[in-house]
Amino acid sequence: MEWFAGLIAGLIALKLLAQLVLEYLNTKQVKRYAGVVPEAFKGAMDQATYAKATEYTLAKGHFSRWELALDTVVLLLVLFSGVLPWAYNIWVALFGFSAWALAGYLFLVGLLMSVPSLPMSWLEQFRLEERFGFNTTTQKTWWLDRVKGMVLAILLGYPLLVLVIKIVEWTGPGWWLWAWAVVTGFQLLMMVLAPILILPLFNKFTPLPEGSLRDRLLALGERTNFRSKAIQVMDGSKRSKHSNAFFTGFGSFRKIVLFDTLVQQLGETELEAVLAHEIGHYKKKHIPKMLLGSAVGLLITFFVIAWLSRQQWFYQAFGFLPGSIVPALLLFSLLSGLFTFWFSPLVNMISRRFEYQADAYAADAMKEPTPLIGALRKLNEKNLSNLTPHPVYSAFYYSHPTLIERERALTASPLL
Ligand SMILES: [Zn+2]
Repeated sequence: MEWFAGLIAGLIALKLLAQLVLEYLNTKQVKRYAGVVPEAFKGAMDQATYAKATEYTLAKGHFSRWELALDTVVLLLVLFSGVLPWAYNIWVALFGFSAWALAGYLFLVGLLMSVPSLPMSWLEQFRLEERFGFNTTTQKTWWLDRVKGMVLAILLGYPLLVLVIKIVEWTGPGWWLWAWAVVTGFQLLMMVLAPILILPLFNKFTPLPEGSLRDRLLALGERTNFRSKAIQVMDGSKRSKHSNAFFTGFGSFRKIVLFDTLVQQLGETELEAVLAHEIGHYKKKHIPKMLLGSAVGLLITFFVIAWLSRQQWFYQAFGFLPGSIVPALLLFSLLSGLFTFWFSPLVNMISRRFEYQADAYAADAMKEPTPLIGALRKLNEKNLSNLTPHPVYSAFYYSHPTLIERERALTASPLL
């Protein structure tokens, strides 16, 4: 075995081990707190809901252990069976070396690799989520979603791949800088177009109906200088009883979306607090900051691919011949997760910091933290959130602080 192939095999094992240890720690922690609601959470959840949330967390942990095992087996088979260079040679013999043909190979490998995860997502929705009463997706909606996703990938992803391969041909050694500029431009364009063209393919968006809630939210928008026609309700109930709110777009394309499930679950003051939190993300410029971060990440990505594509050992480790950029793109996309996984605590730490800032903004805009705390408690209750994740587990995976952490930060604010 080539040294690089050995290194990759070791990294795959290491990542799987880390993920299983994290699941193990979290399960142990949840079981330790199972039973009676801990003192700190009295008022956030009643006994029956707490027991159900514990059960839900354990079931999700069990499910994700199977998912991890499956993903790892698929990756090992694809990398070490020799199927990739074998298929590549047949493909170029049939279709040649045009950018459209080469991108077609990349696209097809990606498509085939996503097949094993299809039954897993089906089971997750129609067994796991169903068992805990969250699922509202019909079979028809579920399958239509896959078809729409596929059509979008063919219409948007495939031409973008072709363009990147053409850029390599056109621009020579400095291609990675050009490719970075084009893909970054594409991402910005999608941020503007997605809320207008793509999200409506999956959900219905409606302005808030007339009434006291609308008046209240418009008044908040006025008070905080947030263009209020950008507040919309989405029919999240079409797929799940889980509730949420999110912020999309930037500049004058910004939009705050409230799930209809959220509107049903929360009182008016609580919804106002949630909206204030989302406005907080806008005011603190979290979206442009995230965009900047991902643009830097993408620049490093393309630089590394360009460097790897000049290294013989990178190709030879998995049976390819050096020369074409395509195997380098493919191998990089399969292997990069083995490295980026270790950065997830850092990325999530930044995300959690943003959440604290948006919470503080909301408490300030509402003149008190109580409405937001009320909203967060209900959200955790309705979504059966795990109130007691293991600290290392939440550091790795949680993009939002836990309920107790957010409550603590909110009540410790100098406002009180
Ligand atoms: Zn947030």
